[in-house]
Amino acid sequence: MASVRTGGCLCGAVRYESSGDPVFSLQCHCRDCQRASGTAYVAAERVPAAGFRIIAGAPKRHLAKADSGNEITRVFCGDCGSAIYVQVSTRPDLVGLRVGTLDDPSGFRVEADIFVRSAQPWDYMNPDVPKYPAYPPGKSYGG
Ligand SMILES: [Zn+2]
Ligand SMILES: [Zn+2]
Repeated sequence: MASVRTGGCLCGAVRYESSGDPVFSLQCHCRDCQRASGTAYVAAERVPAAGFRIIAGAPKRHLAKADSGNEITRVFCGDCGSAIYVQVSTRPDLVGLRVGTLDDPSGFRVEADIFVRSAQPWDYMNPDVPKYPAYPPGKSYGG
């Protein structure tokens, strides 16, 4: 793949481009993602930070401790509130891109449901997707 993908927030003030293939595609059911998104889970791709850049606008940042204890920066549009990506203090080389902000999110191929220990009972999950109570082994970064 390695093509350049573009995306942005709901109001269009913030735009980004991302090159480089996703290293991990997930659906996170942790409570932080539920609160930040206002819904059951967040669909995200970990993409190389080196290939990710904001090309328009100046998003706001919210710094908090994740369930993992890591510091996590949630980056969002200050005008419309769209959550765009997260970055974790322990993995500055990766960006956790919110898939729904891509101009074309149809290429998302989920590899795992993570933090299913805090998934809501009304949250339907595809039984064919691997499930992990928290992080999958070897992928213990992010929040
Ligand atoms: Zn916006
Ligand atoms: Zn989460």
